Amino acid sequence: MIRKFLRHVFRRGAPSMPHAPAKIPVARHGIRRERVSVGARRTCEALQHAGHKAYIVGGAVRDLIAGIEPKDYDIATDATPEQVRSLFRRARIIGRRFQIVHVMQGGETLEVSTFRAAHDAHTVKDEHGRVLRDNVFGSIAEDAARRDFTVNALYYDPATETVIDYHDGVADLKQKTLRMIGEPTQRYREDPVRMLRAVRLSAKLGLTLDPAVRAPIREMAELMENVPAARMFDEMLKLLFSGHSVECLKRLRDDGLHHGLLPLLDVILEQPLGEKFVMLSLASTDARVKAGKSLSPGYLFATLLWHEVLAAWEARKAKGDVPIPALYEAMDEVLDMQAEKLAITRRIVGDIKDIWALQPRFEKRAGKSPYRLIELPRFRAGYDFLVLRAESGEIDMELATWWHDFQNADHEAREAMLVPDSGPKKRRRRVRGKKSAGEGDAVVSASSEA
Ligand code: ATP
Ligand code: MG
Repeated sequence: MIRKFLRHVFRRGAPSMPHAPAKIPVARHGIRRERVSVGARRTCEALQHAGHKAYIVGGAVRDLIAGIEPKDYDIATDATPEQVRSLFRRARIIGRRFQIVHVMQGGETLEVSTFRAAHDAHTVKDEHGRVLRDNVFGSIAEDAARRDFTVNALYYDPATETVIDYHDGVADLKQKTLRMIGEPTQRYREDPVRMLRAVRLSAKLGLTLDPAVRAPIREMAELMENVPAARMFDEMLKLLFSGHSVECLKRLRDDGLHHGLLPLLDVILEQPLGEKFVMLSLASTDARVKAGKSLSPGYLFATLLWHEVLAAWEARKAKGDVPIPALYEAMDEVLDMQAEKLAITRRIVGDIKDIWALQPRFEKRAGKSPYRLIELPRFRAGYDFLVLRAESGEIDMELATWWHDFQNADHEAREAMLVPDSGPKKRRRRVRGKKSAGEGDAVVSASSEA
């Protein structure tokens, strides 16, 4: 009894305490080495051949057991980054916070990291307990203990087809439970991003959050504020491009996790007008992920924030601002608000703005304008965005259909489609003055009335 209790305490309370791992044979976990990518197998073989330990670790092992094709492979080894690099022809050391080695095998890139130790009393933390640095090499047991969830701490050896399991991860996976290694509140304090990871991984794998994993989230969500904006952006991208974004967001909402967590999430989940638009966009993103199609972060973020832009734009126009400059100001306002918490990279910000700025131009169906528009490199993205706006009911479907037909028509048919221009060029120069009803801003009326 006492021994059992102690074992329980050591497992849960002191994750770095090494204990003998379970060695699970292929009959129980089901991963035959043929299912593992050739590059991952070769990398492990080469390391082992040189006398090192080497395992496939983390998400790939978890996904293979769950019957999901891993999107990439991580390898853990007791070789140092220098030793790893010296063993491969095409390998380079990357990373500042913690060095890892990228090994190229055929078209694959394998991420090889040296076993890392869990932090101790000397670990550098911020005032909220967030770990700032954890770059001490360690044993495989320590490496397992510093990982977040039991299902993520599995080590697969392709040579023997065994899984090394320190924290009952295989059993948890089979029972469809996401359980934390160690004490959840402490692990969230060390790295608040684990809360988002819990939601994302549970959605991806169809796992139930262990009550101890789920319960503290609502209260601790505010710790996410201290996470650097660049890291937050990476995690949000992972979540949105997981192929399960709709499910992730549903779970976030159910857990009350979106409140104040990120302005972006409030935007996504709390705008009645934009909800249909955002959900359509996320559903189509999920479908694209599942079909293995390319993804554009700029397009997705443009959809997520569009109704914010519409609202800010509307407010400016109501004050009497000139429509097009007002749109640009509204765009900046919305992006600046996100920037504090979420460091959207500059290139992506450029893509987002391009897509938004194109929208009023779809209203112009006269003269040379439509011809110029379809030649623009961003036309396709802008058009897809327009269709989504129509599908969500924000604008009339007629406009999207017109552009569909215009693209597919020959020159003669296009000429016939052009809507006679009501405002000759002369009027355009008069923008600053008071507009005669509907003239000056006919260009943007449809989108602004939504
Ligand atoms: P995905 O399928 O999205 O790649 P993943 O679990 O592989 O999921 P990665 O970000 O690729 O996620 O991380 C690889 C592994 O590193 C994880 O499986 C886990 O063992 C460990 N890990 C990642 N992030 C954390 C974290 N915040 N805290 C502790 N361990 C982590
Ligand atoms: Mg991974």
